[in-house]
Amino acid sequence: MRIGCPTEIKAQEFRVGITPNAAREAVSHGHEVLIQSGAGLGAGFPDEDYADAGASIVATADEIFERAEMVVKVKEPQAAERAMLREGQLLFTYLHLAPDPAQTDDLLKSGATCIAYETVTDARGGLPLLAPMSEVAGRLAPQMGAWTLQKANGGRGVLMGGIPGVTPASVVVIGGGVVGTHAARIAAGMGADVTVLDKSLPRLRQLDELFSRDMNTRYASGGNIAEAVAEADMVIGAVLIPGAAAPKLVTRDMLSTMKPGAVLVDVAIDQGGCFETSKATTHQDPIFEVDGILHYCVANMPGAVARSSTIGLGNATMPFMLALADKGWKQACRDDAHLAQGLNVHAGQITNAPVAEALGRDH
Ligand code: NAD
Repeated sequence: MRIGCPTEIKAQEFRVGITPNAAREAVSHGHEVLIQSGAGLGAGFPDEDYADAGASIVATADEIFERAEMVVKVKEPQAAERAMLREGQLLFTYLHLAPDPAQTDDLLKSGATCIAYETVTDARGGLPLLAPMSEVAGRLAPQMGAWTLQKANGGRGVLMGGIPGVTPASVVVIGGGVVGTHAARIAAGMGADVTVLDKSLPRLRQLDELFSRDMNTRYASGGNIAEAVAEADMVIGAVLIPGAAAPKLVTRDMLSTMKPGAVLVDVAIDQGGCFETSKATTHQDPIFEVDGILHYCVANMPGAVARSSTIGLGNATMPFMLALADKGWKQACRDDAHLAQGLNVHAGQITNAPVAEALGRDH
């Protein structure tokens, strides 16, 4: 199959859909790989790395969309890209169609077959093509929180690990899923005193078994959250209720109980945020203050570490990309019910029931 990878054109997107390693693998399976010149630069992969891997470098996105049987990307196709998609072409990328009727209409009109990373599932009920980005955001959260805690950034001026004779920072993580687990691990690794709160007792048991010496667990009742937040130097919001907006677990009133200059990192901001006072920010202007409490609410945290994120995403997408290329999408989806869950649009129809329901459309 001829696989094409254009340069991402969404603002502030530095990742790339195919790494040189993934290109090499596809070429070794007998496929032709076309990479738009410069597509990998934001993630630190020059054209030569792709050429060494056996890929062909082409000058324009038009050429990629014209020649490729499968287009592999990171972000949902932008309007200019959607205009280039054609009937029978396979698109493999994040789509997030539910809140995006304009994109949905264009994909339906294109006649392309569109497989969305975010709805591919795994045998344990997880989302394997979202998990690496949650891992990145989770590990980045204490790093960005620690920076925000510094005095020059308006924070309390507290060192995560303390020093001998000085207590470490108190870090509270609300939600102990993928983001929360990785955030707690890194915060504990920096020497902070870490407490994870979750509504799920099985999840708290797992965390306790895995990390009992490194962190405390606490049930996420309203009272426990209020107490933990009042004591915290940093609170990391990492809850998810699938398909719903994040619940507001820290209210504006609770800010007045917190230590001045404490930091809230709202990783759940892409689902509306789990702190009442959160609003989405960007890497250019990531923090703001409400009632003396610093907020870090960047909606696309993995973009800050585009190289690590690209490699992590590429590791997860590669086996699916190869299956699609080796077998064609029909056979690959017949053989793998989890990949089939990723099929969102085919031949002018929405093919994923929850996506159709969220959009109020037929499927
Ligand atoms: P996950 O499903 O693995 O974990 C969510 C956890 O929240 C679960 O353990 C669940 O039991 C817990 N939870 C649900 N309701 C709760 C409540 N009321 N109180 C306490 N805990 C509760 O999800 P995840 O992959 O860890 O993602 C967490 C959030 O981070 C999501 O909103 C996701 O979209 C977001 N995210 C943001 C970025 C970013 O760049 N900002 C990147 C990746 C993920």
